[in-house]
Amino acid sequence: MNVHDSEKMAGIFSETGYNEADGRNDADVIVLNTCSIRDKAEQKFYSELGRLKKAKQENPNLKVAVAGCIAQQEGEKLFKKFPYIDFVVGPNNLDSVQKWVSNGIHSTTGNHQSTAIFDNPEYHTKILPVKREGGTRAWVSIMYGCNNYCAYCVVPYTRGRERSRAVSDIYDEIVELAKQGYKEVALLGQNVNSYGKGLPGDVDFPHLLNEIHKVDGIKRIRFVTNHPGDFSLKLIEAIRDLPKVCEHIHLPVQAGSDNTLLAMNRKYTYSEYSEKVSLLKKEVPGMAITTDIIAGFPGETDDDFECTFNALKEIQYDGIFAFKYSKRPGTKALDFPDHLDEQIKSERLARILDLQETITHKINKSLEGEILEVLVEGASNNNPDRLTGRTRTNKIVNFPGDTSDIGELINVKIIEAGTHSLYGEKV
Ligand code: SAH
Ligand code: SF4
Repeated sequence: MNVHDSEKMAGIFSETGYNEADGRNDADVIVLNTCSIRDKAEQKFYSELGRLKKAKQENPNLKVAVAGCIAQQEGEKLFKKFPYIDFVVGPNNLDSVQKWVSNGIHSTTGNHQSTAIFDNPEYHTKILPVKREGGTRAWVSIMYGCNNYCAYCVVPYTRGRERSRAVSDIYDEIVELAKQGYKEVALLGQNVNSYGKGLPGDVDFPHLLNEIHKVDGIKRIRFVTNHPGDFSLKLIEAIRDLPKVCEHIHLPVQAGSDNTLLAMNRKYTYSEYSEKVSLLKKEVPGMAITTDIIAGFPGETDDDFECTFNALKEIQYDGIFAFKYSKRPGTKALDFPDHLDEQIKSERLARILDLQETITHKINKSLEGEILEVLVEGASNNNPDRLTGRTRTNKIVNFPGDTSDIGELINVKIIEAGTHSLYGEKV
């Protein structure tokens, strides 16, 4: 989501005549697009901001903007603490970057220390220019904000209430992307399964998928992220019946214990979750499933943790993102009793990651010898003689190939599987 927000800001800058700088020393404007989902992300921002103080002393003409969730959370306080910041903009007001730029970022009057944060109810109807990274897969926002209020999460506070973009706006954007040569779209929202609430007519996420499926030129459709509580049979059927919808879903479970899920305000039990996963696997053979896990939520007992550990064994995810619980300002869980020691959280996280490494490796090994369709993204970072791309199940495949393959769908035979990527040969 943040990557795509950065693409939107880059779009505004490039439309108004700015080019990407080679690095910090070469820039006239630096925008820090911040994340406050966990404390670590926040600390990273503050260290970078510290470095920019020096950069600004060396080049007083440099302008510094702070965007994203920390901008929203801290607002004008940022100016007080860091007087060298010039502009603060929240995630629902990215369009005001346009104003900041057109008022003349480097003018000496009137454009210093301005803020554009908080609510912008019209944001979801705005169509901003986007400078996308890479030419094969495009991120497309379909909704903003979140109404779920999971007890640990800042998103409803920083990104505001859930709002869906109109089907026609999304459709038009994707038609345009297809014309530009994109073959894959990834639909973005905090909970795409509840897409459509508040829109006129009988509009829901499966309906949107059906509409996007009609766009010529688009060969693959993905979407992130899914709340298991809103994950419906109708959506399972859409994934099954629409050939362009890829066989991969990210379905964050967070925990395997019902006590923890209740305390987290996740609104489903583990057995409801696992039944949905079983049905999905039955209806869509070869479906890859990934998830998010929080280790050491307040009050998580050894038994609760074992439930999470067992859930991973049972479901056999293709991959997970696991994090230690992190205290977030303004969230309900902050006031819960029984916060756990860092050491316990770290131990639990390590156990989960260890287990998952074995599972992912085993699943990937089972793909050796198979021929998989890969959308080629570009040269591999680790070895420029190889190309890299993704399977429909979102696995990274590296293989020797020609740059003319970039942007194409190529069949690749998997020769060797690692935990983080597969290696293959073109067939
Ligand atoms: N809307 C998405 C998640 C967005 S945040 C969803 O509900 O699935 C991405 C992930 O960050 C979450 O799934 C959760 O696992 C993790 N996360 C969020 N807040 C956290 C916190 N306070 N501590 C640790 N992990 C957190
Ligand atoms: Fe956060 Fe929960 Fe909303 Fe996801 S669904 S963004 S975890 S509040």
